[in-house]
Amino acid sequence: MIRSKIPNIGVSIFAEMSELSAQHGAINLSQGFPDFGIPQDLIAASHKFMSEGFNQYAPMQGVLELRRQISKKKLKDYGHEYDPNDEITITAGGTQALFTVIATTVHEGDQVIIFEPAYDSYGPVVKLFGGNPVYVELKAPDYAVDWTEVKKLLSSQTRLIILNTPHNPTGSTLKDADMQALSRLVLGTKIMILSDEVYEHIHFGDAPHESVSKYPHLVDRSFVVNSFGKMYNATGWKMGYCSAPAKLMKEFRKIHQFVVYAVNTPNQYAMAEMLNDENFLPNLSGFFKEKRNFFLKLINEIGLKPLPTDGTYFQLVDFSEVTTLKNMDLAKKLLIDFGVAAIPVSAFTHNTPKSGVLRFCFSKNEDTLIAAAERIAKFYNSIKV
Ligand code: PMP
Ligand code: GLN
Repeated sequence: MIRSKIPNIGVSIFAEMSELSAQHGAINLSQGFPDFGIPQDLIAASHKFMSEGFNQYAPMQGVLELRRQISKKKLKDYGHEYDPNDEITITAGGTQALFTVIATTVHEGDQVIIFEPAYDSYGPVVKLFGGNPVYVELKAPDYAVDWTEVKKLLSSQTRLIILNTPHNPTGSTLKDADMQALSRLVLGTKIMILSDEVYEHIHFGDAPHESVSKYPHLVDRSFVVNSFGKMYNATGWKMGYCSAPAKLMKEFRKIHQFVVYAVNTPNQYAMAEMLNDENFLPNLSGFFKEKRNFFLKLINEIGLKPLPTDGTYFQLVDFSEVTTLKNMDLAKKLLIDFGVAAIPVSAFTHNTPKSGVLRFCFSKNEDTLIAAAERIAKFYNSIKV
């Protein structure tokens, strides 16, 4: 009989909620994906490269033209030049990049710092490779990192710190002071950093996105993960990339080649063409800030309590003052009885503590958000005491 390598891990919350949503014909604000189209130019470019015969294996590390464009973009955005030859690899989405970084860095018994709530894949994959997650709680309402607490948890076994900014599910972002504090903590250690920056272009504050690539003490020890799913709203294309100094990337590629070898060829050329044209670089922050504000207005009108968010296309809403229903019970009641799918924030923690907080994805057309808000209002009125 098969012996599970990750016992106690079930089906991903995103699969579970999207399936339940489809079963009940609900409006799906759970799994994060847009309900609007991707740029027509991207579709045209993909067709063009398929028709022109770019249909065989791409190079293992990715199409060079795309890696060149990414290198140019990183230099422009963060002032650090990654060598397209040996510091950038194209992956099957951010998810595969995250998996491969953890597989590359974590040995049996290593400790990995994970800030919770956390994206669902980090902890299970660390365990899969024999690592021990060390969880640090981000506390509501601002979900900021307490670096003094992190310092106390570091040990000679600490191998990796996983960052995620802007942060899914809370929408919080790391600031310059966080990066300075982290730089001081890791200086002189062998600790590596996995920086999940898939929402780099969806942030709403005045301060710019703080990438580890901007910080000399961090960039040398960091793997950065990005996703084209977020940049061009094409989550179904499952294309992303990982950037890291050559000595780290060399090891990453040794594993990448046996996980996927290479990813979709024509779409890599299509992405390269998009990135090469300034006109195709979307103003995602402006676009999503409008959507966020639109959704916030609807939520406030209901009388519900949204938590502050600074980025991503997720909004947390706190129901704890109006109901004693917890976690999945709350999400399931909203889904099954009122027809809106959301994700309970407890799904992003390993020990499901108390929570009456749901995550809603607002990467949707206004009509979808209005229809969802009408249903959420009915739900609210039914649970309010
Ligand atoms: N990291 C975070 C924080 C995410 O929210 C997601 C999902 N969108 C990913 C990684 C994975 O990205 P992809 O869909 O490109 O695999
Ligand atoms: N990143 C998306 C979310 O947080 C979905 C990812 C997935 O489906 N695995 O909802």
